[in-house]
Order: sequence, then C-alpha cells, then structure tokens
Amino acid sequence: MGLTLPEGGAGTEVSAMSPNWVTTRLDSLSNWARSNSLWSMPFGTACCAIEFMASAASRFDIARFGMERMSFSPRQADVLICAGRLPFKLAPVIRKIWDQMPQPKWSISMGACASSGGIFDTYTMVQGIDTIIPVDVYVPGCPPRPEAFMEGLLLLQKKLGEERRPLSWVAGPQGVTRPDPPCMRDLKRQERAAANILPSPDEV
Ligand code: SF4
Repeated sequence: MGLTLPEGGAGTEVSAMSPNWVTTRLDSLSNWARSNSLWSMPFGTACCAIEFMASAASRFDIARFGMERMSFSPRQADVLICAGRLPFKLAPVIRKIWDQMPQPKWSISMGACASSGGIFDTYTMVQGIDTIIPVDVYVPGCPPRPEAFMEGLLLLQKKLGEERRPLSWVAGPQGVTRPDPPCMRDLKRQERAAANILPSPDEV
C-alpha cells in the first residue's frame, strides 16, 4: 500500500503508482507491534523498584520504548516486572497476578533478589521467582541501574520480535516458537575483561 499526500489538499490517498511501498510478513508486523507497545504490570517489593521508578521518570523515560503505560491491572498488562525480593507470603500473589494476565505475556526478573534470592538466603525468601512463574529476561545487579533494566527491556523486545506465534486458530502451525535467550555474561566476557579504564564512582 502506498500512502501519499495529494498536492494542495489535506488527507491521504492510496496511489497504486506511489513508490512508498512497504512489504513485510504478517507475523513480523504483529511482533513489531507487540514488542513496541508493552504494557507493564510492575510488581515492586523492595529497593529495585526505586530503580524501576527512575527508569520510568524523565531522565531515562521508558516511554521511548513504547512502555509508558504502567498497567497496575493484570488483565490489561502483558509484561510482569518483578523488582525486588519475593517473600514466600507474596508467592501466591505474584502467581495469581501472572495467571490473571492474558496471553501472550512475558516477565522480567529485575535484580539479584528476584532472580536468585540475592543476599537473603533465608527460610522466608523465594530463591528466584522462576520457581513461581516463568521468566523471560533476568536483569542482574543489586540494584540494577535503569540502563541495565533498559538493556533487559531491549533484550525482551528482540526476543519478542523473533517469536513465532499462531496468528489464527484455523491456519498454520499452532505452537509457539521461542528463540533461545543469549547469555549476555558470555557474550560480553571479552569486552568486560578488556576494560581497564573505569570511571570513578563519583562520575557514575
Ligand atoms: S537486589 Fe539489591 S537492590 Fe534489589 S531488592 Fe535485592 S537487595 Fe534490594
């Protein structure tokens, strides 16, 4: 479809001769739309949630990724962000929220506590939220800075862009194909080992 502005007039018209053609696959288009309009369900329980709030504020501004709409309502959300440690008392709560979110849905585990229990190796604390819900992206750190969260968000968007999901229940394969997530620790090992000029903590 080519869209052009008619000369001297307002509005648009579709011109068969227009050079402004875009061709794509339907599932690529749907993945592009999904990955750039993620509606998040924040589940902030501790300090990591403050960094998540900073990500949403003006300096970092996750609205740039189409994610400005915090849902706070599981039925209108498609990405659950667990930011902070999860005590066992909250485990049924996060599971219920996850179950209430409609498909397709994804989750981000933000920070060491959410991913592994962090320093809280105690009987009260869930040792990784992946024992309660499936996790798509782990963001390491204690706490991760907003930049780290955004890298996790970009990884999720990339993963989403490569997913194959059925577009109809009558046509095509019905299974969901998900790419293997890359291990950023291994991918960045050389670059990190080579870094020998580090900024002072005052500059961070
Ligand atoms: S990872 Fe660190 S900053 Fe995040 S909730 Fe745990 S203790 Fe707090």
